[in-house]
Amino acid sequence: MNDSGNVVDHRRLGRELDLFDTDPLIGAGLPYWLPDGAAVRAALEEYVREAERRAGYRHVYSPVLGKRELYEISGHWSHYGDDMFPPMEVGGEQFVLRPSLCPHHALIFRSRARSHRELPLRMAELGGMYRSELSGVLGGLTRVRAIQLNDAHVFCTLDQVAEEAAGALELIRRAYEAMGIEPARYRLSLPGPGGKYVAAPEKWERSTALLREVLDASGLDYEEAEGEAAFYGPKIDVQVADPAGRESTLSTVQVDFHQPERFDLRYIGPDGARHRPVMVHRSVVGSVERAVAHLVEHHAGAFPAWLAPVQLAVLPVSDEAAPAADRLAGRCAERGLRAEVSGPGRGTLGARIRASRLVPYQAVIGPKEAAADEVSLRLRDGRRLPPMPAAELLDRVGAVVAARSTGLWD
Ligand SMILES: [Zn+2]
Repeated sequence: MNDSGNVVDHRRLGRELDLFDTDPLIGAGLPYWLPDGAAVRAALEEYVREAERRAGYRHVYSPVLGKRELYEISGHWSHYGDDMFPPMEVGGEQFVLRPSLCPHHALIFRSRARSHRELPLRMAELGGMYRSELSGVLGGLTRVRAIQLNDAHVFCTLDQVAEEAAGALELIRRAYEAMGIEPARYRLSLPGPGGKYVAAPEKWERSTALLREVLDASGLDYEEAEGEAAFYGPKIDVQVADPAGRESTLSTVQVDFHQPERFDLRYIGPDGARHRPVMVHRSVVGSVERAVAHLVEHHAGAFPAWLAPVQLAVLPVSDEAAPAADRLAGRCAERGLRAEVSGPGRGTLGARIRASRLVPYQAVIGPKEAAADEVSLRLRDGRRLPPMPAAELLDRVGAVVAARSTGLWD
């Protein structure tokens, strides 16, 4: 809720804060990102890539299209076809926009002979995928037709599955801490009645038992829900709630015996024989669209400093202090900090401070500060600090941002 008691809607805030928008000529459910929104998204993507690199993932890129046969093999064509865009005919072949990244990653795994020494092989990609939503919600990021997914597939032995799934849950826990959000609940999503699931009862039992074991060992509270599984296997869903209490799935961890078999994936074991790996599918922040929508609503635009589109507002009191303000903004840019100068041309100092109320740091520079290479700092939470050297400000803010801390100043 915001001050006026209205539920914060990311679509309204996204427009007010110039984060993203849509155009009927591009189409509903196909938002574009404006510079401030792109800054938030890029910061989030870089966080995820860095966290994944540290956790032993290696990144790949793969095309957003594939031949129809690829998805027939993966099972998407028969189990997920209603959500896919129709095929495009090119030179006698049919191509489709991919509904998920898994089939491409399975082929990348299969492209080389694999030894047990390479396992667990953790393959990550922040990649595009598409869903033929019949009605994209205009102006929103939560129901989109073009999705950028933070995805990864861990190819591993059966014995390694529990540890890999637990490692993924730990990545999720840390990411939520950095983003300043909390899961509404953990859900073990199981198949339900109806024909959309691949039939292999024994595999479903094994993968469900593995995920239950991981959840029980983690000490996390969770609920089981029928009818929420992926078509190829059960999953752990990390649910978040919007300010109105509506839940959606942000992060997932899934165990899959189905696609390794469909793609005939193999590795050479210590015994010299060929064995079938298991695929653990996992997403730490889900799609960047849904993650940013949730962050916008949760923080009502007041993002943690590392995610803020503008991290530092530089406010010269008068035109006299403008050159010092420009110099400070330049030093911020050199250190990779996002600063914006808001000079007297934009109104009184009070008005400019109010206009920057969502910016974590506001550096006020008067003639005295300009002469001494100092700034008077105001924090978004209302704190006002005595004048400090500009170099100290850069070090302190740089450290908070680098640590992806949700605090502003100690
Ligand atoms: Zn997958």
